[in-house]
Amino acid sequence: MSDEIQEIESKIAPPTVQCPNCDSMLPHELGEVTCSVCSAVSRIEHKPTRDSWMDEKVSCPNCPKILRVGVDERPCALRCSSCTSVFKVTRHVVKVGLTCPSCERELRIRPRPGKRSLDCPACSESFHVTF
Ligand SMILES: [Zn+2]
Ligand SMILES: [Zn+2]
Ligand SMILES: [Zn+2]
Repeated sequence: MSDEIQEIESKIAPPTVQCPNCDSMLPHELGEVTCSVCSAVSRIEHKPTRDSWMDEKVSCPNCPKILRVGVDERPCALRCSSCTSVFKVTRHVVKVGLTCPSCERELRIRPRPGKRSLDCPACSESFHVTF
């Protein structure tokens, strides 16, 4: 199995939405989104995100061709019109910047809902964040 499907990360993420039930941050997805804290299901739609997904351009991982994705959901599969290789356009991984309260260094992390304990890589101070 040397034919692993290559993945390209989409540059477009849906807006940040709070769970109407518990105010936690919902995953950056569209459609039926399940809150990972309280399991409430919300229906999230955002037309501008769908439109940008449709029009997003990605470069083929196997040739120099730039392709218009033309699909309004992520993840999705795409076939290059030039070299016919198939690859996957995955969801954008949202990261947020925050500042260590102890040494004021900028950290970039993947937010996950709920309370979380972080160790600063610079000063090893532990602190809590809530999303
Ligand atoms: Zn919730
Ligand atoms: Zn190609
Ligand atoms: Zn620090």
